Amino acid sequence: MRRHRGNLGWWPGESPFEIAIGAILTQNTAWTNVEKAIANLKCADVMEARAMFTLAESELAQLIRPAGYFNVKARRVRNFLRVLVEEYDARLDQMLAGDTAEVRTRLLAINGIGRETADSILLYAGTHHSFVIDAYTKRIFERHQWWSNGLGASSKSKVQGAKLSPPKGNTVDEYESLKLLCESSLNHKSEAEHLDYWRDYHAQLVMIGKDYCRPREPRCKECPLLVLLPKLK
Ligand code: SF4
Repeated sequence: MRRHRGNLGWWPGESPFEIAIGAILTQNTAWTNVEKAIANLKCADVMEARAMFTLAESELAQLIRPAGYFNVKARRVRNFLRVLVEEYDARLDQMLAGDTAEVRTRLLAINGIGRETADSILLYAGTHHSFVIDAYTKRIFERHQWWSNGLGASSKSKVQGAKLSPPKGNTVDEYESLKLLCESSLNHKSEAEHLDYWRDYHAQLVMIGKDYCRPREPRCKECPLLVLLPKLK
């Protein structure tokens, strides 16, 4: 995938705080809409935790309107800001400090922060090795028979030379099952390369999912992952 498009440099954002806000705003919407919402926040000069938290929920909702579901997202952003400002003195680095599992639990305790959002904040706004799973990842892995609905993957499957081992034990929790599979399989890079590798790997899967691996009529013939697609008997 990287040979095809190069390192995608994901996640776009001028600061970890902006990345975290973007991760909340991008729930159920295209990134182009998030960009407009972020531009509004910058134009209002509130791309900072305390300044944004001083906004009334209705004011914040109007600024992030382009991101869709703006009333719900305004509440979620304020839930995140309340914890950040009141418990961590508006210091995102402090909020994200500590053991990855503990910080993940901390984020997931905030109303409106789900696992995909929490992992995006951990991986891109922080420096935590926490792989992000989304609908694109699930679709690509299922179509390539690397993973099947939480029941593990074919031991013969390979991603860029990395042997994919099924997670220990079966689980009905699709997100955690696929996350565990990715994290246990994509760990062959050196410590220095690891964070960038996982950040870019998720971005590449998103790119493949958007451009080629569509829900209907996937464009396999043009897709860089065609060589890894199992042949139908
Ligand atoms: S080759 Fe590409 S488009 Fe086809 S199933 Fe694989 S990832 Fe999807």
